[in-house]
Amino acid sequence: MVRPNTERSEDTILALDCDPKNVQWKLVKKGIKKFFEKKHAIDESDRFNLVLFRGNPSYLEDFTFKVEYLLSLIDEDPKSINAIPIENVIFMSLTFLIEVFKKVGQKFFRIIILTDQDTKPISKEFMVQDLLDITKEMPVYIDIVRLNVKQGDEDENEMKIRQIIKWSKGGDLVYIPKPKKLFETVMEELADKKFNEADIWEEEKEIKIPDKHAPFYENISEDPKIVDSPGDTKCMACFKKVEDSNKLFKCSICGNAVMHERCWAFWSKTANIGVRHVYRCPICFSLLKLPREFIEEVLGKVVEEELKEAVEATQANVQVVDQLELLKEKDSKAAPKLIESLLDSLG
Ligand SMILES: [Zn+2]
Ligand SMILES: [Zn+2]
Repeated sequence: MVRPNTERSEDTILALDCDPKNVQWKLVKKGIKKFFEKKHAIDESDRFNLVLFRGNPSYLEDFTFKVEYLLSLIDEDPKSINAIPIENVIFMSLTFLIEVFKKVGQKFFRIIILTDQDTKPISKEFMVQDLLDITKEMPVYIDIVRLNVKQGDEDENEMKIRQIIKWSKGGDLVYIPKPKKLFETVMEELADKKFNEADIWEEEKEIKIPDKHAPFYENISEDPKIVDSPGDTKCMACFKKVEDSNKLFKCSICGNAVMHERCWAFWSKTANIGVRHVYRCPICFSLLKLPREFIEEVLGKVVEEELKEAVEATQANVQVVDQLELLKEKDSKAAPKLIESLLDSLG
C-alpha cells in the first residue's frame, strides 16, 4: 500500500541558475540553508542535490542527506557562472532523476530552479515535453523562481514557463522583484510538501501507469537472473528450494533477493510500480521486470481465492529492507562527488 502523498519523502534538486552579479550570493545561501533546515524538520528522509554552474553545469552524482556538505559547495563569492536555459536544466535534472528512480522507490521528486533577469527566455520547451509527460508518474514537481523580475514584465516567457510546469506533476512560478526582502520567506514556503489534493484519494487505489508509457518503464528495468547452481538456496517468498519446473531467479542488481519465477510474479502484484510486470526488488529497490506474458499466464491460471492467498503469503514472508536506512548507510560512507554535465556544449 502506498502512503498518502502528503507524507511522501521528497528528493529535491535545487538549481542555482542565476548570475552572482545580479543576486547577493550570501543571501541565496542563507535562504537555501533555511530551505534545507525546514525540509529536514518536516521529513528527515528528504534528500537533496544541487546544480551549480561553474564552467559546465555540475551536480552531485547522487542525492545526499548532508546539508552542511551541500552548503559548503555554494561559493559565497563566485566570480562568474555559466547559466544555461531553464529547459536545459530541466532536461539534465530529469535524466538524473530517471537514474535515481531505477534504484529508489516511494519518492516524490522536485526540481526547483532559481533564475534571474538575465536568464534567457524559454525557446525550446518542446525539448522537455515528452520527458515530463512520461515522468509525471514518478512523479516530478517543478518550481521556478524569477529573481529581480516583476510578474507581468514577461508575458510570453511566463506563458511558456507555466506550460512547462503544467507538463510536470505541478509546481509554482514565483516572482521575487526584491529578493532581499522575500527570498528567505519564499524558500521556506517552497520547503512545504507538494501534493495534488485530488491524488490523496487516488492513492488508495492501485497506481496505474498508462499503457503508452509502459515501454519506457520496461526499458529502464532489469531482468532477474537465473540462479545457476542453487544448492540449498531457498526462495525468500515460499521458503522452498528449487523445483523442476520452477527455477530460482535472483535480482540482477544486488543478487541478494532470490525467488522462484512464479513467486516473483506473486511478489510483483504488491511491488509493481503501476506497470503490472515492472516491480521493485525487496532488498535493493532496483526496478525489475518479468515478461508480461509470463505474469499474465501465472496469474491468469490461478483462481482468485488462490491468487489472493499466494500474494498474501509473499507479503508476509518477504522481508523488505528499510529503504531509508539503506540510503542513509550508503550516504554515510562517502560524500557524493560533483560531476560535470556536457549538456551545455550540446545545447
Ligand atoms: Zn518460491
Ligand atoms: Zn536487488
